[in-house]
Amino acid sequence: MSCIFCRIGKGEVPATKVHEDELVVVIRDIRPQAPTHLLVIPKEHIASLWDLENEALAGRLLQTSARVARAEGLERGWRLIANTREHGGQEVDHVHLHVLGGRALGPMLPGSHAH
Ligand code: AMP
Ligand code: ZN
Repeated sequence: MSCIFCRIGKGEVPATKVHEDELVVVIRDIRPQAPTHLLVIPKEHIASLWDLENEALAGRLLQTSARVARAEGLERGWRLIANTREHGGQEVDHVHLHVLGGRALGPMLPGSHAH
């Protein structure tokens, strides 16, 4: 099994876990883009959001994102990102949600304009 997020989910590769239950693990990103940068990862291997057909799991991932954002104290706001497939810039082919916060994040995309 070579999938890095499957291995983290099984505890075979070390990661800084901030939450774990039977379905989901949340870790700190090793290359943080903001003071809080978490990855919400299902333990089941699902390649991307494109392939996520389990509605209950989709809901769990979303709800867990909000729970960990709250636990991180992100009252001023935060952002949820799901890089998906090639044009989305997905690097790890195991679905995950980025929770980013702790600073003003600016425009959604590089080069986009605030109105
Ligand atoms: P993406 O697939 O584009 O959403 O990006 C994958 C993210 O996973 C990047 O932000 C990486 O820094 C992060 N990442 C990759 N390997 C690890 C790891 N072993 N532990 C924590 N974060 C990781
Ligand atoms: Zn996997």
